Amino acid sequence: MVDNPFESAKKQLKAAADLLGVDKRTFSVLSQPKNELTDDIPVRMDDGHTQNYNSFRIQHNDALGPFKGGIRFSQDVSMDEVKALSMWMTWKSALAGIPFGGAKGGVICDPKVLSQAELERLSRGYVQQYVDNIGPDKDIPAPDMYTNSQIMAWMLDEYEKLTGHHAPGAFTGKPVELGGIPAREAATGYGGFVAVQEIAKLLKLKPKSTTVAIQGFGNVGHNAAEFLFDAGYKIVALSDSQGAIYNKSGLDPGAAMACKLEKGMIAKCYYAGSVTDKAKARVIGNDELLELDVDILIPAATENQITAKNAGSIRARAVVELANGPTAPEADKILHQGKIPVVPDVLANAGGVIGSYFEWVQNNYGYYWTTKEVNEKLARIITTSFVNVLERSREHKVDLRTGAYLLAVSRVAKAVQLRGGD
Ligand code: NAD
Repeated sequence: MVDNPFESAKKQLKAAADLLGVDKRTFSVLSQPKNELTDDIPVRMDDGHTQNYNSFRIQHNDALGPFKGGIRFSQDVSMDEVKALSMWMTWKSALAGIPFGGAKGGVICDPKVLSQAELERLSRGYVQQYVDNIGPDKDIPAPDMYTNSQIMAWMLDEYEKLTGHHAPGAFTGKPVELGGIPAREAATGYGGFVAVQEIAKLLKLKPKSTTVAIQGFGNVGHNAAEFLFDAGYKIVALSDSQGAIYNKSGLDPGAAMACKLEKGMIAKCYYAGSVTDKAKARVIGNDELLELDVDILIPAATENQITAKNAGSIRARAVVELANGPTAPEADKILHQGKIPVVPDVLANAGGVIGSYFEWVQNNYGYYWTTKEVNEKLARIITTSFVNVLERSREHKVDLRTGAYLLAVSRVAKAVQLRGGD
């Protein structure tokens, strides 16, 4: 069983590269990051002592455009996780047809125990470490798990101080006041909503009678839940890292989030006000959520949640991956055999990088669009990608992930070859 995300990422690439007949030299370029940057960031803590935090910036490929990818602050982040995430970013941008490559960053830390001042010094320290490697035409970071627009604001400010000029396009996911766009915050959730609509259409599911379980109630899971709820889908289960709630008759994600903010965890919210009614609701385990009898299962938390161990117990009619890498390759096979389509992360959660691309384009032009315009353009890209991926997977009789990889890998491989193979 593979539970190393980078091993999973390489297996996924190999499956597509074999089908495409990618030559050895190009395959070796695609299967490893171009640059693996890692260093300790010294941070002065509030009590006066200095703490070193191990950090990474992994730049996988820039054949199609500047490296692009978020920065994750987490105690569990590792080099191999960031390497996998950087590779997935390359495929995601290529599949969406946007002129970016793939990268990812991380800092091993527990952001929950840091004060705001310590968090700011850590964010600025990250930029001091990697200033020569990032920039609007080089590598454009963005928020990821446990990082947000405030952190991007500190990072942009530090970058502009160090380089001596304005460069809003050096980071995306910024506050609107600093060149961010209002649609970016919810863009991954919105793109995920569009992906759910596409798979629902394919399975002939009507929103009102379609049940949805969402693992992970953070930025992505919460925004997706809100769009789905507004369109009439029935959200029956939600979870965060501390537990899950289930209600057969449906949950209101807005009220659930208000309660989670008040009580600190979703598991304390099963009977909160209008969220749900006490008689029909219950607290369930995180593992149980994945195995619920629902129409759509949305993993929106972290990697390796559906594995060879639990894939056989998945009862959803379709899985829509809003997290990166939630399904291990062995689990993919089991789900495919069980005729459970998986809308892969590189397609379903591409709304984030597409939103970032629109932010970057507008920063470069200094000319801004409305949220409606942004969402329409974003939905068009996700829908077109979905149709192309479906067509490719049917043509080759493979699952949707392999169909997506066939498209993405062939685009990047071609660009690598045109540049001379490195
Ligand atoms: P977030 O930090 O806002 O939320 C993560 C949520 O998952 C939290 O509610 C956390 O409690 C929960 N969680 C963590 N482990 C869990 C577990 N084992 N079971 C249940 N819940 C768990 O992060 P986010 O930005 O929403 O990102 C979520 C996923 O989506 C990540 O895989 C990220 O890489 C991916 N993603 C995010 C974006 C984006 O724009 N934010 C874009 C593309 C992909």
